[in-house]
Amino acid sequence: MNAAELVRQHLIDPEICIRCNTCEETCPVHAIQHDARNYVVRFDTCENCRACIPPCPTGAIENYRRVARSNPYAIEDQFSWDELPAEAEPSPGETAELPADVVRITEIATAGQGGAALPPWSAAHPYEGLHTIARPAIATVTGNYRLTEDRASSDVHHIVLDFGRTAFPVLEGQSLGVIAPGLDAAGKAHHVRLYSIASPRNGERPGYNNLALTVKRVAADRAGRPVHGVCSNYLCDLKRGDQVKVVGPYGTSFLMPNHPGSSLMMICTGTGSAPMRAMTERRRRRAALGEGGRLMLFFGARAPAELPYFGPLMKLPKDFIDINLAFSRASDRPKRYVQDLIRDRGEDVANMLRDPESYIYVCGLKGMETGVNEAFAAVCGAHGMTWDAVLDGLKREARFHVETY
Ligand code: NAP
Repeated sequence: MNAAELVRQHLIDPEICIRCNTCEETCPVHAIQHDARNYVVRFDTCENCRACIPPCPTGAIENYRRVARSNPYAIEDQFSWDELPAEAEPSPGETAELPADVVRITEIATAGQGGAALPPWSAAHPYEGLHTIARPAIATVTGNYRLTEDRASSDVHHIVLDFGRTAFPVLEGQSLGVIAPGLDAAGKAHHVRLYSIASPRNGERPGYNNLALTVKRVAADRAGRPVHGVCSNYLCDLKRGDQVKVVGPYGTSFLMPNHPGSSLMMICTGTGSAPMRAMTERRRRRAALGEGGRLMLFFGARAPAELPYFGPLMKLPKDFIDINLAFSRASDRPKRYVQDLIRDRGEDVANMLRDPESYIYVCGLKGMETGVNEAFAAVCGAHGMTWDAVLDGLKREARFHVETY
């Protein structure tokens, strides 16, 4: 075989992939598909445009193997994998280098808009993927509290994990993966489920090697049909002293700025509040050092009793954080979504959009993205701006970050 026949095949790492479907939704040529277990990439369809790279929350998407163009991994192979195959050693006479045209195409794609999403310029450097499925970190549960009131329809838990003397350094906005014990219906280990870290970088308790997760017990699917969420039920039922297998941390772009005067606009629904709690608490701990600019929060839940962290949130001083709560099913008021409140607060939202030091974070239900974008467009229209142009600028400067599932 001569070197000109070698190519880079795009593959998805089944060990890290959380099956969130963002890559399949994003791929403009439908090269990505999935079965009950794995997400795979069709070699003959993938154009290496890298549109699928930025939305992937774990980085599972960004994997390549050098293969002979005439003999790539078939999707049937990829469906059967529990882990990626090792990079093949070049055979005698074959160069390990890719041909110049393949390398050049890859470089062009990487340098373009499809490259990995960037963090704010002043974000701290994140660690990623320190613990893998083969070598997970073992954390001990030191707390498990129900956050939603007893009368609430949803059961959301605040779960504190302690890593003891194992390094698990995190930043606000990062996630980790949990491996639930046991086997799935096919007799294989459960795949990893991803949760945002709800604590600041220096610990749920400052100076401790611990962090918290915000987990909603899944008892129904999106259509309301009863299902038993494997990992959420496992986590919500944990007792103090139980041990949990954890992988990660993950996430290199949904990170907060650290420079003085930088402002945060946080827009979230339900348990999408986890990273917002981490960022808010970081700013609260650093307030005395003058690190923070303005904090503005838009938080949507069905009713006050369903809103995770409602009590502590309401105790924060008004001059520290501007809180806007949208309740969609409260018995005593009309239905409101976060996007309605963005419109209501148009003047202040417009001022933040004009402020070059403001950073925007959106986290929660996938469905909120469209509504939030429309609300920003309406606010911009009413205040002499064009949302498309504003959004372009925000993205160029890594000031707009979205994590929805
Ligand atoms: P939820 O309780 O189902 O919904 C929260 C609120 O959002 C409700 O008021 C709901 O209203 C409203 N809502 C529904 N559709 C909306 C739309 N199109 N635009 C704006 N608001 C809308 O939320 P959840 O079950 O906690 O889900 C949170 C989401 O965050 C999940 O998708 C989860 O995967 C994701 N997430 C979780 C974490 C974590 O660490 N746990 C981290 C990141 C993201 P109605 O239902 O009354 O219509």
